Amino acid sequence: MIGRSELCRRRSRSRCSDDLLIRFMVAVGLIAWTGASAASGVAQAHPEADLVITNAKVWTVDSNHPTADAIAVIGDRIVAVGAAADIDAWRGSQTRVIDAGGRLVLPGFNDAHVHFTSGGMQLDSVDLRDAATPEEFRDRVARRAARYPDEWVTGGDWDEEKWNPPHLPTKELIDAVTPKTPVFVNRYDGHESLANSVALKLAGITAKTPNPPGGEIVHDGQGNPTGVLKDAAQDLVDRVIPPITHERRMRAARRALSHAASLGVTSVQHMSAEYADIEVYEELAERGELTARIYAAPLSSGWEDLAKIGIRRAFGSPWLRIGAVKTFADGSLGSTTAYFFQPYADAPNTRGLLSGDFQPLSKIQDRFIKADAAGLQLCTHAIGDEAISITLDLYQKLTDTNGERDRRLRIEHAQHMAPKDFDRFSKLHVIASVQPYHAIDDGRWAERRIGPERIKTTYAFRTFLDHGVRLALGTDWTVAPLNPMLTIYAAVTRATLDGKNPNGWVPGEKLTVKESVEAYTMGSAYAEFQDKEKGSITPGKLADIVILSDDIFSIDPKAIRDVQVDQTIVGGRIVFSRTRPTAQP
Ligand SMILES: [Zn+2]
Repeated sequence: MIGRSELCRRRSRSRCSDDLLIRFMVAVGLIAWTGASAASGVAQAHPEADLVITNAKVWTVDSNHPTADAIAVIGDRIVAVGAAADIDAWRGSQTRVIDAGGRLVLPGFNDAHVHFTSGGMQLDSVDLRDAATPEEFRDRVARRAARYPDEWVTGGDWDEEKWNPPHLPTKELIDAVTPKTPVFVNRYDGHESLANSVALKLAGITAKTPNPPGGEIVHDGQGNPTGVLKDAAQDLVDRVIPPITHERRMRAARRALSHAASLGVTSVQHMSAEYADIEVYEELAERGELTARIYAAPLSSGWEDLAKIGIRRAFGSPWLRIGAVKTFADGSLGSTTAYFFQPYADAPNTRGLLSGDFQPLSKIQDRFIKADAAGLQLCTHAIGDEAISITLDLYQKLTDTNGERDRRLRIEHAQHMAPKDFDRFSKLHVIASVQPYHAIDDGRWAERRIGPERIKTTYAFRTFLDHGVRLALGTDWTVAPLNPMLTIYAAVTRATLDGKNPNGWVPGEKLTVKESVEAYTMGSAYAEFQDKEKGSITPGKLADIVILSDDIFSIDPKAIRDVQVDQTIVGGRIVFSRTRPTAQP
């Protein structure tokens, strides 16, 4: 038996030695489920916990011990879970105690599909969405330009329909407040943007510039550009915007991290990550600033960069991992580029488009086989039924060629399934990495686009589970909000955003709250090969934990979207408290 002083000495060392300590404690039986299942009534001498959460309604997502009322944490690991009285034995003079006041405690959420730095960039940009008057619009642009005078002001998502009367903004509105700073802010739908005079000059746009094909430069009564550029005309300015600097990317990542912490998101899987994003994460990890664990999947076109130095799936530290690669098979339903077996109902001249990577298929097959042989994990964006079917064909060939292995192949989105493919999906152990919020968003118009038959197997979460397919949940932030409560609300209610399907759109595909939580924690952890390290509140696992304002298992499902995260704990450290300002990492 190890003495407490020895443990304390060990604990005073670095984070790494916590891992060793926990492993040791598991070995000598110091870590355990406690309470009813405790082996004996004899009081055990416990080392002192750093953190105890007590008086909680813990849903562990561990099927062996689904509920508990308290948790003890040492370093970054959970050491005991059980009845409050038993966990009390871990309390010492230095233990930080959180009284959860009977609130619901869950494992931290793991978003299996995000575009994290883009999200941060959006948070870090000027926000014009709710600028209710032209003056408010101008003032927000002015404040942003004053703060970062040397940086382009971009983003915005303005909506002139909010103004009375509605009218397009012009460069004159903002020129006086941005004499030196280039501004190029987009309408919320992305189809038009406003440039100020500095930006127009940098882009070389004058009264004489002709409209490019597919675009329009809007002119005033005197024939001068107003600053509004529509569709393809936006490229004229986009191409002169300098690449994102490291500093800006760092700032965006920090914004994204604090946003995630405030929502209880303790792990994110960054799809289509740029190398520069990974560099930023590495720097933040080194500084101890990461408050969410990151698994970054760059595009598969660069798979050899990873393979050359022997990086395999889930390589890295508990904070930052790489080793997955992302490929696009097709486009999206919204833009009629998702690739289907049959034509679109509202666009009978097209069945969508396979991506460039998938043409010819022999090219992507070769890449997949080589990347798989190198031990990389494959994540493929496939939305239309034929794109999914082709991806399954490609995945089947991996087993045929490289043999049986625990690959955890993923299909991202997996939106529109051909009924015949559910069995194959399951047989190949492919993970469906899905974003339920898209269902309540696209559900407003999807039937018009693909007809009444195909919607029956659209966002078919229930059918996936019935076929034994593992789900990993996510948001695709910035396409949908990062908030897990909205995702769970969407999965459970399937109530479309337009209010037209209060009892659920294709209601047979609803998930229960428990299934949603499990897919968002264990399911996502499994999808990144981390199900032994996180995803449930289990002794020995990383202490990534959230405390919610309400019990989402018992409230009206419609109210789930308003539930807030009160506290977020990552690796035993409180990274967000609603009652206090966000803790500095
Ligand atoms: Zn995405």
